[in-house]
Amino acid sequence: MEFRNISFSYNKITDNLKGINGKIEKGKITTIIGPNGSGKSTLLGVLSRNYLPSKGEVILDGKAIQQYKPKEFAQKIAVVHQHNDAPSDITIERLVSFGRLPHKGFFHFLQEEDEQAIQWALTCTNLQEKRTKRLSELSGGERQRVWVALSLVQKTPILFLDEPTTYLDIYYQLEMLELIKSLNVTHGLTIVMVLHEINQAIRYSDQILVMKEGEVVMEGTPNEVITEKMMKSIYGVDVVVKEDPLAGLYVLPIGV
Ligand code: ADP
Ligand code: MG
Repeated sequence: MEFRNISFSYNKITDNLKGINGKIEKGKITTIIGPNGSGKSTLLGVLSRNYLPSKGEVILDGKAIQQYKPKEFAQKIAVVHQHNDAPSDITIERLVSFGRLPHKGFFHFLQEEDEQAIQWALTCTNLQEKRTKRLSELSGGERQRVWVALSLVQKTPILFLDEPTTYLDIYYQLEMLELIKSLNVTHGLTIVMVLHEINQAIRYSDQILVMKEGEVVMEGTPNEVITEKMMKSIYGVDVVVKEDPLAGLYVLPIGV
């Protein structure tokens, strides 16, 4: 997947994405980092065809995304949004089954293939035992896994996740990142996610894309991108970048 010269504006006055370019490699984990308001979620919205750019194009498998039929495109990319809401009176299993809708015409009953996808999504996210529960009965970490299951059930080769670890404690953050990693390694999903925690971005990404003020300012492997200079110029923070035999490269913030 590639995007070229993408501009987008919410109000048609100021550009929130300013003619940006980048590449999402198939079968890899790409993480978008950057300060609040730099355009990370907006970029995900353009790449997933939620927002129509005013300029530029997004190419997926050799074809501009606008040229896909809605149903065809829905089978390419699933998105785990940052904020989610759902009726609280239905079971997890039923909620996850709604993710099959893009695969169906109207008034079609769930078939064997749908049933298998639902069970697979619940198993991947370790929610089998919770499938008869309702959202309100789950912990924050489990709830977040429900949103991932709702995307997985769509059986798309590409998964977007906007800040999948926000509001989770450190245990559930790592559990979520390990789940994402295993979806990539075991099932070959192409992952694009937004993270704020730089050390987690280093650890779980093949590629990092750095955004600032509506632009993609850097793109490369964690080792290429994460430097003291970048952290100062992008976030305005002083950090020390170190290498640990066990943890690998890591960033230690020392001040602003
Ligand atoms: P990030 O995800 O990096 O925090 P966003 O993509 O959400 O940033 O936002 C980029 C810019 O677009 C910000 O200046 C933000 O205020 C603005 N913006 C985001 N969503 C909307 C919206 N729905 N309407 C108007 N402006 C928006
Ligand atoms: Mg955002």
